[in-house]
Amino acid sequence: MNKFDDIDYWKGIVLYGLNQATYKIALGKTIIELASSGEESVDWNLLSKTYLDNYLNRLKENSHPQQNNPSRKTKMERIIDSLNKGIIDYQTAVSQVETEAFNDVIPRFQTIGTNKEIVGERFYHFDFGKKLYLHDPTFKIIEDSKTELLEELDARWSVLEGHFLTVHDDWELSNSIRDIYLVNGHARKNITHNIPFLQGYQGNICFYCGEPIERKDIHVDHVLPRQFIQHDEIWNLVLSHDICNLHKNDSLVGKHYFEKLIARNENIMGSNHPWKRKILNALGNSKTKRGMTMWKHYENAKIVLKNNFWENSPSYNRETDPFFKKLITVLNNR
Ligand SMILES: [Zn+2]
Repeated sequence: MNKFDDIDYWKGIVLYGLNQATYKIALGKTIIELASSGEESVDWNLLSKTYLDNYLNRLKENSHPQQNNPSRKTKMERIIDSLNKGIIDYQTAVSQVETEAFNDVIPRFQTIGTNKEIVGERFYHFDFGKKLYLHDPTFKIIEDSKTELLEELDARWSVLEGHFLTVHDDWELSNSIRDIYLVNGHARKNITHNIPFLQGYQGNICFYCGEPIERKDIHVDHVLPRQFIQHDEIWNLVLSHDICNLHKNDSLVGKHYFEKLIARNENIMGSNHPWKRKILNALGNSKTKRGMTMWKHYENAKIVLKNNFWENSPSYNRETDPFFKKLITVLNNR
């Protein structure tokens, strides 16, 4: 009697999926709701709208974290934050879901643990970005147990949120800080036009490792991560190797890098470049004020990004860092 019924496969997915976020639970609810209309072929737009509505309903009642990693928010939380703050409208939110929210969850929903063979394409197959095709077992399980399945998904969703909350210290505080940056921020722009300006103060030397950068490897990096700071102002931009930038990822840099960034910005302030206005406007009209503003952003980033530090090693030695030596020379000769 160890034969699996359709409902057992479904429960396997819901209860034994590897849930680092709540995506699968929301998709489970979405599929049950969509199947209730009896349509086998579901348009991607309707799928996205139903999925978004599930998250909107869920997050309206509480604002618990939706993933395990405390230094990030899920794609869906970020879309909904922007919607709630009036930065995007509902239609834009739906189209962001259509293009950005399903890359992982649709292909991976039908797995138990990490195994894709067990379930196969029992409940649906898809044409990404176009259609979701629901299969007979999906209609069968909701015919038999729709209410029970929805309750089970809600319960599972709460369990995951409860678990995520325990690893997210200062959730409320971190959220309100994130909101401030989101409201004062702007949509991502192309930042490569800053390269010549930054080269003027940095040469072709990587801000992080101090080694020369080949033209093809040059990358404009947000020192405080873009997902936190929500803007592309030059006081927070440096040139780095692509590989250094990737290595740092969304982490918070160690203090010594931030000190170096403050020195870099003061170097710009000591020059005659017209863009120094941008730094003055963003950070303040004296060296002390600018330093205080920058450290305030750093402290806020620490709360939001938790202890997710990158190269926070006190053994780092600026004396052996060619960029810092070059910077000191420039500072001393101005
Ligand atoms: Zn580098």
